[in-house]
Amino acid sequence: MSVLDLLRPDLAGFVPYASARRVGADAPVRLDANELPWPDGVDGPLPNRYPEPQPRELRSALADLYGVGTENVWIGRGSDEAIDLLMRAFCRAGRDAVISIEPTFGMYRTAATLQGARYRAVKLLPEDDFQLDVDALLAQVDADTRLVILCSPNNPTGTLHHACIDTLASALQGRALLVIDEAYIEFADTPSAAIWLDRHENLAVLRTLSKAHGLAGARIGALLGSAALVRFIGSIAAPYPLPAPSISAALAVLTPAARTLAGQRIAMLRAERERVSDALSTLPVIDKVWRSSGNFVLFRGRDAGNLFHLALENGVLLRDVSAQSGLGGCLRMSMGRPDENDLVLQAFSQGCRA
Ligand SMILES: *Cc1c(COP(=O)(O)O)cnc(C)c1O
Repeated sequence: MSVLDLLRPDLAGFVPYASARRVGADAPVRLDANELPWPDGVDGPLPNRYPEPQPRELRSALADLYGVGTENVWIGRGSDEAIDLLMRAFCRAGRDAVISIEPTFGMYRTAATLQGARYRAVKLLPEDDFQLDVDALLAQVDADTRLVILCSPNNPTGTLHHACIDTLASALQGRALLVIDEAYIEFADTPSAAIWLDRHENLAVLRTLSKAHGLAGARIGALLGSAALVRFIGSIAAPYPLPAPSISAALAVLTPAARTLAGQRIAMLRAERERVSDALSTLPVIDKVWRSSGNFVLFRGRDAGNLFHLALENGVLLRDVSAQSGLGGCLRMSMGRPDENDLVLQAFSQGCRA
């Protein structure tokens, strides 16, 4: 059985839009796409040509970065676009279901709801340090389940769930696609789940240049999966998903020098994460700090609103996640530069003297 057997049956034989660049032919003079023929404007070059739907150079640079074949990489406008397209491809509105965990990244529920898919989440509890009970997750999977999405390291808890991926993928074989969102894997101590792609055809991995590579503004993310899945997602995506300036920005962060710099910054943020977690743990206004595998730390105080305002008065915006299931009193702090992180620690230690 192929993972493509799990696609919406009404998409069988789907005919992709045949854009000019997708047709594949080329000639020195291009009069096939209704583009402006001048490549310059008042301030210099204009991106007057449509970009390649999946730029070859970027695809091989990402395949190299992620340790997979080029045929296993689909590049989109952030991993958010891949999440959306997976929902559309696999879930019949009003019928099929997506299973995830809670608390987690809010886009899964949003994208499922937009598609009309049903969405169920297994609760992770603060008293269990947000550990996942794999059997509880599998118990949620029924005949209409098409996608199981697991964020690891999980946002906003920072918990790593990689230890159960191999087991989960085997249990879901022939039943559902297992999607692992690895937006923060660069900050963890574990290899990417992409190492299991050869073994599990029903596995897909989401990566992004938004976090560890500093390119949130460029909107470049990747879906890693079987060649068949990658081809299908490409066939339902927008004709030219990637803006030319974003393609250039992505290539610029994938040079050897840029990858070395990213590695240094990742190491610094990991060290900051440990330093800030330790410092937060000693403060009387904080009653719990969870160990994180991401570039952020989740912590709990008696009054999340008060902590939020203490940081704000010192010029720092934190993320109040206290309204989410199981996260009463909790805030999430992204790791900034050491001087930025110190502003939060100062605000909280002054706050408890006041
Ligand atoms: C930030 C984040 C993303 C972001 O993705 P883009 O590539 O910027 O769209 C995806 N997943 C999670 C869990 C995130 O926190």
